[in-house]
Amino acid sequence: AIAVEKLTKRFGKKQALAGIDLVMREGEMVALIGASGSGKSTLMRHIAGLERGDAGSTVRILGHIQQKDGRFGPNMRDLRGRTGVIFQQFNLVARLPVITNVLCGLLGRVSPWRGTFGLFNRAEKRAAIEALGRVGIPEVAWQRASTLSGGQQQRAAIARTLMQRSQILLADEPIASLDPASARRVMDVLADINRTEKITVLVSLHQVEYARVYCDRTIALRDGRVVYDGPSDALSDDFLTELYGAASEELV
Ligand code: ATP
Ligand code: MG
Repeated sequence: AIAVEKLTKRFGKKQALAGIDLVMREGEMVALIGASGSGKSTLMRHIAGLERGDAGSTVRILGHIQQKDGRFGPNMRDLRGRTGVIFQQFNLVARLPVITNVLCGLLGRVSPWRGTFGLFNRAEKRAAIEALGRVGIPEVAWQRASTLSGGQQQRAAIARTLMQRSQILLADEPIASLDPASARRVMDVLADINRTEKITVLVSLHQVEYARVYCDRTIALRDGRVVYDGPSDALSDDFLTELYGAASEELV
């Protein structure tokens, strides 16, 4: 579903990505770990088609070339619609009802003329409530997004990507600011849609124990390079201590 080749990205003097090669099969759920600044978010933004790699880089999703030699392909817009992205924060428009936020997932998929709120039809609204049901929070549909807990907001963001019918979900530290119970619920939802909807999931995590529980495979970055790509349960404590550096051991 995802193939990244020789992806490099430099911001001024900073080499954020230093030659990333990775392949994810359709339907995989893979964890992405690495210390702060190792390039996790930058890598995800490239896969989402939000950022352009340096010359010589290739990013392919769903069998289509999304960018090559630092240029976006002509089918970028369409491909972007097939990738859902969720972040640690700022996922929802706070003052709008949850259901409106979820319906926004349709916007990348329909003609722009239909994009104004109020023009969603009844079937689409029903589908939005169903999507909220899939993530376990149908009852909050008519509340303002700002009234939800962090975990509920994250699940509403996942419901929005379900409306988008994305085939790939990129989740950038979706549980970093959640308490353990909410974090587990969000990870359960990700695992569930990965299994039942065959959505390919790449999830970056600070807490490695979640990678071990939820993802068979983990990719670790250090200084913009892949330094581990293999079974999550084979990650050694020594490797992790080194990966995060002694100073941030409490994150492991
Ligand atoms: P964190 O765990 O803190 O989220 P990360 O692994 O997601 O870190 P990135 O955000 O991908 O790391 O950043 C990788 C490096 O690239 C960092 O040194 C960062 O400062 C740099 N960087 C990222 N985006 C930009 C940008 N737009 N301009 C300049 N430097 C950038
Ligand atoms: Mg990041």
